Amino acid sequence: MNWGSLDFVRNTPKAELHVHLGGCIPTSIAKIMLQEFNTDAIRNIDLDGSLSVLNPVSSLSEYLKLRQGLDYIPRGKTCLTQMFGAALDALARDGVVYAELRHSPFKVAKLNDLSFRIALQWALEALDRAKSAFPHIQARLILGIDRANVNIALVHEVLDAFDWLDRPKEIVGLDVAGDESFGITSELAVVLRKATNELGLGITIHAGEIGPPENIWFAIEECDATRIGLGYRPPVTAQVV
Ligand SMILES: [Zn+2]
Repeated sequence: MNWGSLDFVRNTPKAELHVHLGGCIPTSIAKIMLQEFNTDAIRNIDLDGSLSVLNPVSSLSEYLKLRQGLDYIPRGKTCLTQMFGAALDALARDGVVYAELRHSPFKVAKLNDLSFRIALQWALEALDRAKSAFPHIQARLILGIDRANVNIALVHEVLDAFDWLDRPKEIVGLDVAGDESFGITSELAVVLRKATNELGLGITIHAGEIGPPENIWFAIEECDATRIGLGYRPPVTAQVV
């Protein structure tokens, strides 16, 4: 057995704890979905250039802007089901047996004009359908909150919907992600602590991705985060000794 071979790595059972649903689906599938969702909103997007980032970029904001095409899917429940199916397919091919997929109910509700109860039900049903095709993968959901678009009332609504659905075991946590130049307010920190203390949700926060170490401390001490993504900011200048 070649312990250093790609096949060995692929075939070794793995847990994937940091994967975003949109970032997990093949570009070719995302492109087809966007072509079907042919509205004014995406007419100016370069479908070939907006889904893959193949060259180095200077900032996270630039990276997110280049991938803005993903902001316009899923469109419809079938589309969401296909996204989960494509994601689990990709994970299965990499030998993943446990995955926590980060997924935004805010985006799904807004794009499809849904209540959060329905948006969460869509996600649970889509995940269930995808899991039936890949029964060897245990898949869970982490609900994503975008740093740049936080609406506390809507976060409360999502948590209420989670509670109303009897706190499904497939939903295991909350994530705060996106452009770190948007700080986490103390108001959101209170809601995150409530979510973990009263609803049993884990808290993971993208901090220290482009921001300073203080953001990581804030996530741990003020938001009760037990997992940090990514916690590593490349040095602004490299010094050769
Ligand atoms: Zn991430």
